[in-house]
Amino acid sequence: MIKDIDKQYVLNTYARNYVNFVKGENATLYDNNRNFIDFTSGIGVVSVGHGNKQVADAICDQVSNITHISNLYAIEPQALLAQKIAQLSGYDVATFFANSGAEANEGAIKIARKYGELKFDNKKFKVITLEHSFHGRTITTVKATGQKSMHKDDFAPYPDGFSFDQKIEDIYNSIDDQTVAVMIELVQGEGGVQPFEKNQIQKLAKYLKDKGLLLIVDEVQTGAFRTGEFLASNLYEIEPDIITMAKGLGGGVPIGAVMTTHKDILVPGDHGSTFGGNYLSTRASLEVCNILQECKDSGLLDETMIYFETKLKEFYENHQDIFTDMVGLGMMRGLRVKDADTLTQFISKAFDNGVLVLKAGRNTLRFLPPLTITKYEVNEGFERLEKAL
Ligand SMILES: *Cc1c(COP(=O)(O)O)cnc(C)c1O
Repeated sequence: MIKDIDKQYVLNTYARNYVNFVKGENATLYDNNRNFIDFTSGIGVVSVGHGNKQVADAICDQVSNITHISNLYAIEPQALLAQKIAQLSGYDVATFFANSGAEANEGAIKIARKYGELKFDNKKFKVITLEHSFHGRTITTVKATGQKSMHKDDFAPYPDGFSFDQKIEDIYNSIDDQTVAVMIELVQGEGGVQPFEKNQIQKLAKYLKDKGLLLIVDEVQTGAFRTGEFLASNLYEIEPDIITMAKGLGGGVPIGAVMTTHKDILVPGDHGSTFGGNYLSTRASLEVCNILQECKDSGLLDETMIYFETKLKEFYENHQDIFTDMVGLGMMRGLRVKDADTLTQFISKAFDNGVLVLKAGRNTLRFLPPLTITKYEVNEGFERLEKAL
């Protein structure tokens, strides 16, 4: 039923599984017949779990009062969320709110380009990214994405001013007198759950700072405690010029955020959004941030991260015939699989056995569980994966 309607009326852009989830409870999803352990959290979005009562109550309370008024008026939860983001990050930043990761990155690129116009005699506008990166699906962010396969001629022409390098070390040679910024993920998510070396990142950050060029860190996937700290930038002990967030920030409500220490670059009229930062999304996100902060401060998040890692490691070590490497950080983990066919088969078998897992890159099995997942759910998930194998 749902399949027929979906196939007839929804544009065919996703390779979909036809299951009809009707209920969610933390890291467990239910269709009409059985339950599934969710090791994906909707691709890193449902950071505080499905059906979170605290978030639901906050949203209900908010939308039964004001859902939206436009950015022509001050919005209390938006201001409070911006303050919360500054406090949790420890950075002296101001925030612009958008509705998605790609849109947050568009905002970051706009700030960088205007910075390049204002701060130098010759206009600087080029942004360098890295191979295997992922920055979004809009025409600009898809061009910023360092994957040739995503720059299809079908959608050409793309905006100028983007190039990507294979390695961090190559960036130094690619910077020319039109380069204004380097945009990177600290752990490449879609590209294969690949973290970069801390010293390499710190060296790059210092180099850019000395030159007055910008470091943009795309924390759309790594942000909101996914790696154990509020931002992966905190973990790497760097101070980026611009940071973007989205996925886990709203716990399922669409929200994107661009934070920058360069608070004087954009002025009224430069950038905007109809929906961005409205009462609904910022109130929800504020509640998500409070829940995750408490989870971190109580030690529960660290405990959960260690437990998940221990279980994953056990699983990995028991199946060295299939998995070649264990990668990632915090609650953003991957297992490299020998070949892409085995990976596709495994994800499908995992689904049949009641556990949701993701693919990243060509050959990585990816885990992005809710940060609130219980030990019982972790155990149950790995038992089902064991059966799937
Ligand atoms: C998912 C993702 C994006 C795109 O976010 P959307 O909300 O889908 O636009 C951008 N960057 C990174 C690192 C991501 O993981």
